Amino acid sequence: MVWPVLVLLGIERFRIVPGFTAVNPFDFTYYPWSHSLLMTIVWSLLFGLVYFAASRDRAGAVWVGIVVASHWVLDFVSHRPDMPLYPGGSQKLGLSLWQSIPATFAVEGLMFAAGIAIYVQATKSRDRIGSIAWWAFVALLIALYIPGPWASRPPSESSVAIFGIIALLIFGPWAYWLDAHREPRLA
Ligand SMILES: [Zn+2]
Repeated sequence: MVWPVLVLLGIERFRIVPGFTAVNPFDFTYYPWSHSLLMTIVWSLLFGLVYFAASRDRAGAVWVGIVVASHWVLDFVSHRPDMPLYPGGSQKLGLSLWQSIPATFAVEGLMFAAGIAIYVQATKSRDRIGSIAWWAFVALLIALYIPGPWASRPPSESSVAIFGIIALLIFGPWAYWLDAHREPRLA
């Protein structure tokens, strides 16, 4: 959520370099405020505190913080070494999973399948929307994800940032909406 906004404001930068990784053409040249380890910890605490202030839900706030922090771990695995430890630091980390399409599909596909399995086991639909909106959400994510490595070059860096913001504005409320039509499956 933070990165595309900072890119559009000109505070962070990336370049489209075809072939930069096997999976996508993005060379993240400068993004210390959204993607350094130190700032990730700051964002995690901030989001957790804001969530707690709004909900008074302590366990929920802890999970919000963990989910925000998980972004750094996932990017650390997939990116080429471009993840800074702190703003201004010269050491960059990354395990380069995106250098291999089969390895990326295997790891990300398994994680996606596990996420679906956990959600389906933990919740059940309250009505038809809870089922249709959920599976349509899954189907659209798969349909957008699979062709990624063979997609044509995006027209510009700012178009990628704008598309990212639009996707968040659609998928966030969509997930909220479908989740409101599902309920915990009590054991
Ligand atoms: Zn990221």
